[in-house]
Amino acid sequence: MKYSKLFIDVDDTLLDFKMAEKEALRRMAEHFGIPFTPEFHQAYHEINIGYWKLHEKGIYAKEEFLPMRFIDLMARFGYDLDGRTANAFYHNALCEGYFLMPGAEELLKELSSIADVWLVTNGDTDVQTSRLAMGPLMQYVKGIFISDEIGAPKPSKEFFDVVFETVPHTDDMLIIGDSLTSDIRGGKNADMDSLWFNPDGLENTTDIRPTYVVQTLEEIPRIVRGE
Ligand SMILES: [Mg+2]
Repeated sequence: MKYSKLFIDVDDTLLDFKMAEKEALRRMAEHFGIPFTPEFHQAYHEINIGYWKLHEKGIYAKEEFLPMRFIDLMARFGYDLDGRTANAFYHNALCEGYFLMPGAEELLKELSSIADVWLVTNGDTDVQTSRLAMGPLMQYVKGIFISDEIGAPKPSKEFFDVVFETVPHTDDMLIIGDSLTSDIRGGKNADMDSLWFNPDGLENTTDIRPTYVVQTLEEIPRIVRGE
């Protein structure tokens, strides 16, 4: 086995976060009588990603920016809804957003039979644990590392230092995820090989170089085996 210790991202690698986000946002909008339009969805998506990137750089703590996303969103559309109230409703709806990425369960089942697997995620503790508890994935993993509990997000070295307290660093570790800025950069910061899951075939316009790139989850076991 080329890699015997695997660290796998959750959102948009194993669980379809885009779908969960859209559903939670739609339910929030419906609940408060706001039209759920493509423009509203797109605006939220952009605002949210912007804040997460600032969070990854250590600029905003999570409790600061989570409500700010909705304060900004309501201001942009001129809706008279308190951002904190919207955020709380959205948060609860998101906790119920469980949509598997195609092939995710099969992948974890196979990988757990040939390597030790941990999940590494930048999500909220209660959002991630309640979503994962809705399906079968946790039975295949040794544990989960959540930025919320660690106090630092991927790609920071601090995040991986905490991981290495539980799983001592070796040369046969691989990190797998869909984000160049958090997963693949995280692998580089933590001195381990990385596999970029790029289902949409996006062009890599960054200076971050993954060890491997795949477009489907099915391709991953072969790489882990070193075939
Ligand atoms: Mg992800």
